[in-house]
Amino acid sequence: MPLVEPSPELAELRPAIRRFVEDRLEPLALEIDRSGEIPAAAWALLREQGWLGMLLPAEAGGGGADLGTYCLVMEEVARSHRCFTLLLDATSGLTPLAIHRRGTAAQKEKWLKGLAAGTLRAAFGLTEPEAGSDSAAMRTRAERVEGGWRINGRKHWISGGHAADVVMVMAVTDPAKRARGGIAAFLVERGTPGFEVTRIDTTIGSEAIKLGELTFTDCVVGEDALLGGPGDGFAIAMSSLASGRLGVSAACIGAADRLLAMSVEFARNRSTFGQKLADRQAIQWMLADSAAEIEVARAFLYDTLRKAVAGAELGTATSICKLTCSEMVGRVADRAVQIHGGAGLMRGFPVERFYRDIRHYRVGEGTSEIQRMLIARDLLR
Ligand SMILES: Cc1cc2nc3c(=O)[nH]c(=O)nc-3n(C[C@H](O)[C@H](O)[C@H](O)COP(=O)(O)OP(=O)(O)OC[C@H]3O[C@@H](n4cnc5c(N)ncnc54)[C@H](O)[C@@H]3O)c2cc1C
Repeated sequence: MPLVEPSPELAELRPAIRRFVEDRLEPLALEIDRSGEIPAAAWALLREQGWLGMLLPAEAGGGGADLGTYCLVMEEVARSHRCFTLLLDATSGLTPLAIHRRGTAAQKEKWLKGLAAGTLRAAFGLTEPEAGSDSAAMRTRAERVEGGWRINGRKHWISGGHAADVVMVMAVTDPAKRARGGIAAFLVERGTPGFEVTRIDTTIGSEAIKLGELTFTDCVVGEDALLGGPGDGFAIAMSSLASGRLGVSAACIGAADRLLAMSVEFARNRSTFGQKLADRQAIQWMLADSAAEIEVARAFLYDTLRKAVAGAELGTATSICKLTCSEMVGRVADRAVQIHGGAGLMRGFPVERFYRDIRHYRVGEGTSEIQRMLIARDLLR
């Protein structure tokens, strides 16, 4: 168990959450890896625990949990498989949260209960082939037509985009303004004429999460598809991404913690030249460095979460968390593979899977370079 806890109340919850993850989710983690699919049982178990839609309010069918509790669950499920964290995120994260914060009563009524229960799926459509980190350079356009908007453009690498019932699509409404009031967010339903899934990609690690390329060709949506005002989309997207950084940070801590536990176990059991690896100073120092880095990152995350729950202004603290935690888990994973030797590179050993999965954290939801840019911009303002 960690040296620091988010609060005495959450510390009490941790052992039961961990037991559930180890007993019930871990067998599914192995299945996800073998099949490359997320079994229905994974959704069912998370639903049974009340972990789907945790951050949404009870009246929207959610769990009404605060960010601290959500991140505790995120951290613990990440000790088993990254895919579980993505199910939490899909039902409480970018798009559901944006609908909760900015949706009309009708939009909330239409989407939130199903999204919170995991019976409807949402995706977040920001990235384009020519606009990743520089998302305001997007080319997707939305023009006013009678009774609504006509969308033209292409989004790629959209997690779960191929299977989503609704995609939150960011599109330029005023090219002169772009990020400063010229981008809108639309809730585009699957099956809308002109909206097509044109390719499905898979990535290194977490192959069960497929990425869709989405094409919009004269795709006409009603005024009721607009989330917020016609110039609010960029701010809505950025605000969702900022909240998401704390969940990602918690997932990094959980993955790092498991990698360290596996490394300790391996070092205790593996002998070379007549001595346990655990008795070698070279190995001990790797374990100690990982433990120290995990605890420091964890302490800063928990402090930020306490401030978030108290309603404090977080500034660049979310970027500092995301940068620190995602870079930290990269180093911990690298050491874990080194300690495991060849076993660390073998398919079927969890450490190999974690090594692939955690590589996403330095890229997704704002790369490390973009987090540094945000932190430096604030320092130099
Ligand atoms: C598995 C996966 C899932 C994804 N899911 C989604 C999703 O659901 N929805 C969605 O909208 N997008 C999604 N994405 C896209 C993801 O958000 C982008 O890949 C990410 O934002 C980076 O954009 P890019 O890949 O175009 O890299 P680029 O922006 O082209 O950057 C390339 C490199 O240059 C660096 N760089 C860029 N600009 C600067 C700068 N100013 N200074 C210094 N360095 C810089 C970057 O940090 C990176 O290292 C997903 C991507 C992956 C891999």
